[in-house]
Amino acid sequence: MSDTASETVSSAIRELVDANHVLFDQGVVDGFGHVSQRHPVRPDQFLLARSMAPALVTAQDVLAFDLDAAPIEAGGPAVYLERFIHSEIYRRRPDVVAVVHSHSPAVVPFSVVSGTRLRPVCHMCGFLGAETPVFEIRDVAGPGSDLLIRDARLGAALAQSLGHGAAVLMRGHGSTVVGSTLRQAVFRAVYTEVGARLQSEAMRLGPVTYLTEEEAEATAKTNDGQIDRAWLLWLKAARSRSMAG
Ligand code: MN
Repeated sequence: MSDTASETVSSAIRELVDANHVLFDQGVVDGFGHVSQRHPVRPDQFLLARSMAPALVTAQDVLAFDLDAAPIEAGGPAVYLERFIHSEIYRRRPDVVAVVHSHSPAVVPFSVVSGTRLRPVCHMCGFLGAETPVFEIRDVAGPGSDLLIRDARLGAALAQSLGHGAAVLMRGHGSTVVGSTLRQAVFRAVYTEVGARLQSEAMRLGPVTYLTEEEAEATAKTNDGQIDRAWLLWLKAARSRSMAG
């Protein structure tokens, strides 16, 4: 790899480490959950930490994987069971550059109540579009699974549920959010959790007025121009409370 290419990779790894810490600091991930980025030089690979709590990830913990979710370097450390979430989305969505999987708590109720879908209630959540699909793992894995996306078949089914959207909920489990940049995926993951909390609160008060599809699209477009404003704040906050050694 040339010097320029290897600097590009190092820089992507550093930003991925930051994303891990921001997602913890913002309450999206806890001991569980993960964030990946498509490899900046090899689009048929992606970067993801070894199996560990996101807040503790350092550059040394980031590994490259192929689109079968196999680590490029064999014989390395333990890897996330659910890495197939990432591989199958990258395989099917060339536009996706980053993927966040989390169990962020306000989202989970929307994955288990039939007839109530996560929808954008405020302008920060316009990227959710009309409504957010729910992946029912039982349709693929039957009634006795552990709900984890632990192989390529389940990953492919999840990616199919996601479709062309920005987010998919996973019944009784959590959610997966994608972006065309790492910062956009982080932004969307944070505001998926915020939006779920707001929608739950609004529904307790009475009938909810949601954004129209046109409003959702317009607000998402505006917010895409403002992502660094949030990112730089979140990064500073995460660094000031850093847990990583
Ligand atoms: Mn999970």
